[in-house]
Amino acid sequence: MAEPAQRAVVINPAKICQPIGAMYATLGINQAVPLVQGSQGCSTYVRYQFNRHFREPVNIAVTSFHEDAAVFGGRKNLIEGLYNLVLRYRPRVIGVVTTCSSETIGDDIETFVKEARKEIGRGLGEDILAQVSIVPIHTPSYAGSHVKGYDTASKAYLEYLAAPGQPNGRLNIIPGIINPGDIEEIKHLVREMGVDPLVIFDISDTLNAPMRLPKPLYPEGGTTAEELKDCANSQGTVALCRHAGGSGAQYLLRKFNLPAVLGPLPVGVANTDTFLENVQKITGAVIPPSVERERGILLDHMADTSQYTVMRRAAIFGDPDIVSAVTRVVCELGMEPVVVLSGTASKDFTAEVAGVTAEYGVTPDILSGSDLFAFEQLARERKAEVILGHSKGVDMAKDMRVPLVRVGFPVYDRVGLFRRPIVGYRGTLELMDRIINSILDFAYPEDKLHQ
Ligand code: SF4
Repeated sequence: MAEPAQRAVVINPAKICQPIGAMYATLGINQAVPLVQGSQGCSTYVRYQFNRHFREPVNIAVTSFHEDAAVFGGRKNLIEGLYNLVLRYRPRVIGVVTTCSSETIGDDIETFVKEARKEIGRGLGEDILAQVSIVPIHTPSYAGSHVKGYDTASKAYLEYLAAPGQPNGRLNIIPGIINPGDIEEIKHLVREMGVDPLVIFDISDTLNAPMRLPKPLYPEGGTTAEELKDCANSQGTVALCRHAGGSGAQYLLRKFNLPAVLGPLPVGVANTDTFLENVQKITGAVIPPSVERERGILLDHMADTSQYTVMRRAAIFGDPDIVSAVTRVVCELGMEPVVVLSGTASKDFTAEVAGVTAEYGVTPDILSGSDLFAFEQLARERKAEVILGHSKGVDMAKDMRVPLVRVGFPVYDRVGLFRRPIVGYRGTLELMDRIINSILDFAYPEDKLHQ
C-alpha cells in the first residue's frame, strides 16, 4: 500500500494533536493551568494521555463548547471560563489553548482575553488580576502535531513573559517533549559543569510529584512566572529538541540576542558530547572529570555488550528529535537502522537522519510524516528484529513477533519509564540496557543467544 500522502486515509498515526503539545509545556510552569478553548473531548483525552503516561493527575480546564459556541463563536465561553478559573484556582499563568473548532470558527482569542482581563479586574480586583498572566496559544490540530503545539507554546510564553533585566548568569534549557527523568539528568550534567540551569517548562517535579494529603491545588515545582520573565537575561539557550522548543530559543536570540543552540537531543555518546561542548561554548564552563567518568562507563558498557547488538536490524518511530537521536545511538551500538519514521513531517528530520546513517554506511527507509501502517510494511520487508518507539507500537511488535523497546511519549503499557532518563551518558546506559535486555528476553528463531 502507498504512503499516506497517496492514500485517502491515515492508518495508525504516530503523532497526537497540537493542543496536547501546548499543554505539555504549560504543565511545566509553576501554578499554571491550560484552558482549552474547545469541546470537552479536546481536553478529556489529553488528561487521559497524561494520566496513563505519568501516573499523575493533571489540572486542565476547558471552555466546554456545545452547539451554540460552535455556531456563534466561543467569546462568552472564554470570558466566563477565565473568570471562573481565576476565581476558584488563582493560577499564576493560564495558557489559552485553541483547538480545531475554535480556530475554524475564527475565535479572536487575543481580544477575548483582553475583555476577560477587564471582567476579572472589575469583579475580583486589580490586585488579583495583576497576579495572573494569560497567554493565547494557537494550536489548530489540522495544521500540525503535538510537536508543533509544544514549539508554538514555547514561543508564545516567551513572547508574552520574557523581559530584559540584569544578567542572571544562568543557562536556559528548553527540554521539548521528554520525560521528568530526562530533565533531572540534564540538570545534573549542567550543574556538574558549575552552571545554573534555568529549565523552561520544567515538568521534572510537576509531573513526578510526591503524594501530599490533603492534595494541594498545584504540584510543587515547575518554572515560575518570574523565571520565565528572567530567561531573557540568561547567558544563552539550548533547545534540546529542535522541533519542540526551537522556536522559543530562536525568539530569545532575535529579541534579546541570546546565543541559541537547537538540538541534537543528547542521547548517545556523540550527541551528549555535542551538548556538553555547546554548554561550554555558551558559558565558558569546563567539562569536569566526574562527567568524563560517566562517559567512560558508557563506552565500557558498549564494548562489553557489543555481541548482543552488532548487526541487529532496528526499526525506530516517534517524534523527530527523539527518533533522530535514537537512530544515532543504534548506529553507535553497531546495529543497523532499517526503517526510521517521524510521525511529524519535517525536512530537517529527513536530512538529519540521512546524514547520521551515511556516517555509518547504512541506508534505512526514512519516513517523514507517515503512519505506522507504512512503517510496519517496511519493517517487515526489511526484516526488523527490534522496534524502538512508544506504546502505539505494541500491537505491531506482537504481530511481527519482535520486541518493542519503549521510548518517547506516550508509554502507557509500562510503569515508571517517565522517571528514567535516556539522555546524557547515564541515560544512554539505561537505554542500552533496555535494548539489550529486550533482545536477550526474546527468543529469536535460529538465534544463538540463548544456547
Ligand atoms: S484533533 Fe482537533 S477536535 Fe480532535 S481533540 Fe485535537 S483539537 Fe480537538
